[in-house]
Amino acid sequence: MAEEHFVVIGNGPAGHEAAMTLKKKAPDAYVTIISRNRQSCYRPHLLPDFIAGKVREEALFVCPPGAYREKGVKLRTGQRVAGLDLKEKSLILDHKEVVGFTGLIVAAGGKPRIPETLLVFKDLMLTLKTLEDARIWMDRLSQTETVLVMGGDLTSFAVTKALVKLNKKVFFLLDEEAFWPLRCDRTVLEEAAHRLARLGVEVLVGRRLMSMARLSNRAYEVQLNGDRFAVGIVGAFFGLVPDIRFLVGSGLRIDRGILVNEYLNAGHEGVYATGDCAQIYHPELRDYWVSIGYDNAVSLGRIAALNLLGGEVKAEAAGESVFEVQGIRVNTSWWMEF
Ligand SMILES: Cc1cc2nc3c(=O)[nH]c(=O)nc-3n(C[C@H](O)[C@H](O)[C@H](O)COP(=O)(O)OP(=O)(O)OC[C@H]3O[C@@H](n4cnc5c(N)ncnc54)[C@H](O)[C@@H]3O)c2cc1C
Repeated sequence: MAEEHFVVIGNGPAGHEAAMTLKKKAPDAYVTIISRNRQSCYRPHLLPDFIAGKVREEALFVCPPGAYREKGVKLRTGQRVAGLDLKEKSLILDHKEVVGFTGLIVAAGGKPRIPETLLVFKDLMLTLKTLEDARIWMDRLSQTETVLVMGGDLTSFAVTKALVKLNKKVFFLLDEEAFWPLRCDRTVLEEAAHRLARLGVEVLVGRRLMSMARLSNRAYEVQLNGDRFAVGIVGAFFGLVPDIRFLVGSGLRIDRGILVNEYLNAGHEGVYATGDCAQIYHPELRDYWVSIGYDNAVSLGRIAALNLLGGEVKAEAAGESVFEVQGIRVNTSWWMEF
């Protein structure tokens, strides 16, 4: 039998779990992770605590870099996959290297979502997705006392807590996107505003951003409908969306994420997508759902690996925890204590 070479794109919780499962269940196969991240797999949900100084950097990591070698998984960090050739079963990396595979799991995750109306201000806002982003936040926070938090997705609440712990003055522009991707009604919004205010946060409800301008490296002028003020950082928290632009034109079916069946197969033999970048068919709903959350990612990573090895494990989303946000069916395992 020809040698198997399984390649996993991405080393977030889904990719990490997929690669480790592949190697455990098929010890003779070559398993390679190709990841844009420079580090070994870490827990993004700890980044706000890292910023607050509550968690040390070492504690973010799922395992030390040496663990991959010990387990026989080849980890290639700091390398971006730029394209996929389904016919040749190969990936094209940014530096033009071609990597062949016999089986592929795409676990490229998500990227911060910026609403279209705010794209023009994108370069003036900070998002938080990676460890590098967290370091930028820490550097900028060391030079400023005021932060405007916009959006209100689940990360924004954790970051706000971190900012309060650091004694920063926080303005929070709370709008209908609050709690994205969870459903939010008026009562929940009022409760959130109340809790934020109790933390000492200045909550701005029902206000719209009209303009934003850089006054200096440490000051931004923000104009809302109503007033104008200066802040040191503008943080944008509008949820995560699949980061799969590099696969457009590859022949994979792409909608919001990579379309896969309930076994996470992407419609081609030996090609799977998993974690935040997958859009998964649900036979009972007769529709696709996307997964958000660390626990979902780990579980889906494992399922993709088992199925690539010939299993028939269904990615189940409990019907009642799938709900619709802006026309997208979302299932979240995200927890929140606030
Ligand atoms: C700040 C923050 C706080 C969060 N808090 C929580 C929480 O409290 N609870 C919870 O359940 N979830 C939380 N989440 C969400 C959770 O972390 C994600 O759902 C989970 O990380 C998704 O895992 P994933 O492996 O699918 O994708 P990701 O973690 O996004 O990993 C994707 C990987 O793919 C790599 N990659 C992407 N494109 C390429 C490419 N072209 N070539 C090579 N590599 C590529 C990336 O470098 C990365 O290694 C949080 C996320 C963030 C950012």
